[in-house]
Amino acid sequence: MSMQESKYQVSQKGYYGKFGGAYIPEMLYPNVEELRENYLQIINEPSFQAQFRSLLKDYVGRPTPLYFATRLSEKFGAKIYLKREDLCHTGAHKVNNTVGQILLARALGKKKIIAETGAGQHGVATATVCALMGMDCVVYMGEIDMARQKPNVERMKILGAQVIPATSGSKTLKDATNEAMRHWINNPADTHYIIGSVVGPHPYPDMVARFQSVISEEIKAQLLEKEQKTDPDFIFACVGGGSNAAGAYYHYLDKEDVKLIAVEASGLGNESGKSAATTALGKEGVLHGSRTLLMQTSDGQVVEPYSISAGLDYPGIGPFHANLFDSGRARFVGITDEEAMNAGLLLSRLEGIIPAVESAHAFAALSKVDLGKDKIVVVNLSGRGDKDLETYIKWGKY
Ligand SMILES: *Cc1c(COP(=O)(O)O)cnc(C)c1O
Repeated sequence: MSMQESKYQVSQKGYYGKFGGAYIPEMLYPNVEELRENYLQIINEPSFQAQFRSLLKDYVGRPTPLYFATRLSEKFGAKIYLKREDLCHTGAHKVNNTVGQILLARALGKKKIIAETGAGQHGVATATVCALMGMDCVVYMGEIDMARQKPNVERMKILGAQVIPATSGSKTLKDATNEAMRHWINNPADTHYIIGSVVGPHPYPDMVARFQSVISEEIKAQLLEKEQKTDPDFIFACVGGGSNAAGAYYHYLDKEDVKLIAVEASGLGNESGKSAATTALGKEGVLHGSRTLLMQTSDGQVVEPYSISAGLDYPGIGPFHANLFDSGRARFVGITDEEAMNAGLLLSRLEGIIPAVESAHAFAALSKVDLGKDKIVVVNLSGRGDKDLETYIKWGKY
């Protein structure tokens, strides 16, 4: 896994086209620099790869199945496969990244882990691997999010993590991120900061994409077995920050025949003021340490995003995806709350799988794209719907 000479991969300087980089306060520079100097060498070491692969297999439960969805395929007239990230330990793809990063933290000699979390899913995935490795874990979470996502707060505590409320600003994810950054600045020597998506300053987007790339590595091998070829015609994935999509696309980036469909949350509609569809509504700017696309006011204030799904409720996308959008390599599709919930209920009835509401957005996009008869389609089923039961119940209509 050396630096690849692809226009869709990160450059030596940490950019994806014109996006990326490390726009960080000077105080954070030593921490990020330590990571940047060491991450590739550590990740590429055979002993690191052996530990990572072993945990993915026996702890996370990989490889996750590539399931041919018969009834869904009949409905759409295409051959639709589901990549079952919902079957990962803890219920979503996020754990692929947290397992990788905690091994990296250990290799760097770190003793403590910090993380920020919005809805709590990344916090739970982080608390999980900290328990696994016997590392101290502090998770910053907005006070309002803590009230909204009580079960995840309790999960983190059961796993032994300390959850610290962020009480400034809007008391949500962005404030939790600020608190985590402050903590890291004050504890650079013994602490690693685990970011949960392909966002943040270089090298985070590249590091997270590499850990998640196991998804497309498996898709290639599994399709070869089932279809006698490695490449599908389409890959659909939802994009919050973009880590599950980055993983599902990774080994197909330079295969331009494989159409990449990136699905954003349009909330109540892109004209409603209640949306999280960054490519439709956003402009270039700096968010969480990287130059990327984000939703902002004319004077550059970040706009509060909205989506029914907590994991897609983010005001930007990572630089990896900003470049896929800018270059036209991926096609971006917006899906409303209503379209996503209907697709989630449809998948439940057709295949006996209740998807996470985030993943339901990816399924809803199947009807927005002209697939063509018998084309091979992979939908990345990023997570299971257990965490979203309340959302389904409130929605009703089933
Ligand atoms: C967090 C989450 C997402 C969004 O995050 P990405 O980094 O864009 O993948 C999507 N699906 C599920 C199930 C999630 O938990």
